[in-house]
Amino acid sequence: MHKLAGIELGGTKTVVVLGQAGRIDERLEFATTEPEETIARAIETIEGWRDDKPVDAVGIASFGPIRVSREAADYGCLLDTPKPGWSGAAVVAPVAAALGCPVALDTDVNAAALAEQRHGAAQGCDSMVYLTIGTGLGGGVLICGEPVHGLLHPEIGHVRLRRAAGDGFEGACAFHGDCLEGLLSGPALAARLGTHPSRVDAENPMWEPVAHDLAELLAMLVLTVAPERIVVGGGVAQRQPQLLPMAVGRVPTLLGGYLRDCTREKLGGMIVPPQLGDDAGPMGALVLASRALEDRVAAVRHVPAAA
Ligand code: ADP
Ligand code: ZN
Repeated sequence: MHKLAGIELGGTKTVVVLGQAGRIDERLEFATTEPEETIARAIETIEGWRDDKPVDAVGIASFGPIRVSREAADYGCLLDTPKPGWSGAAVVAPVAAALGCPVALDTDVNAAALAEQRHGAAQGCDSMVYLTIGTGLGGGVLICGEPVHGLLHPEIGHVRLRRAAGDGFEGACAFHGDCLEGLLSGPALAARLGTHPSRVDAENPMWEPVAHDLAELLAMLVLTVAPERIVVGGGVAQRQPQLLPMAVGRVPTLLGGYLRDCTREKLGGMIVPPQLGDDAGPMGALVLASRALEDRVAAVRHVPAAA
């Protein structure tokens, strides 16, 4: 049985776990402070769980934007981020150097997507999207079981879509105004509703344009990714459970009769809340760790025949 560790590096807190793919045995959470201190504390925690044997692999699920393509010179480093002190910070190299085992990296949302797909609400769905609507809005995308990477990684939260007629809210994203994050994240909703969203009743008509914007996002994902499931988590989605069915109900109209079999019933079964809750990130980090070992096995098996 492999001994795996996971680090979920969040904008506000870091969660370090020990376990196996699908099982968390030990867990420690602490505030994300400056990079050196935070990474050192994660390493120390994992070292402390060494017992008779060190960990076999580590998975890191990080906030972004972060360079995830292994060929890049700055692989494993944060890119420009508003979080003070973290732009350019190396996340993978110090962990690999200190622990001397394979280390896998992905975004927090791609890792959560892997966890929900392996162990949660998207089992059996090779192509799926995991959305989190919380302090920000992010989306992890798996296509044929693999997290999507490319130029960088998907940044679904910063897409701008068509607004509801008569909705004049200018949006709260510092970069784009009314991108999806600027419309639907917790801070955006506080600006939009004029109060903390927890103070607005589920029946209040102020939720209608919010449901419209979420429906635009869901329709866009159905059309671009063709996912078998969309898992919608995060503090906003989980604490305003009326929003998801309101949005799903609008998707067939937005699709305008195109994709006829995307009925409300079918979409209702396809677009669902998460099953792993707050464990999706740390469990995703453990899935990444197990994938790092698979990679190593594959690399050893594929040694080219001697010339
Ligand atoms: P994070 O995105 O930082 O991981 P969460 O997913 O818990 O954290 O989301 C935090 C966000 O959820 C905050 O912006 C907060 O305003 C929002 N939130 C908290 N309670 C509610 C609520 N009852 N209704 C809607 N949004 C809420
Ligand atoms: Zn934006």
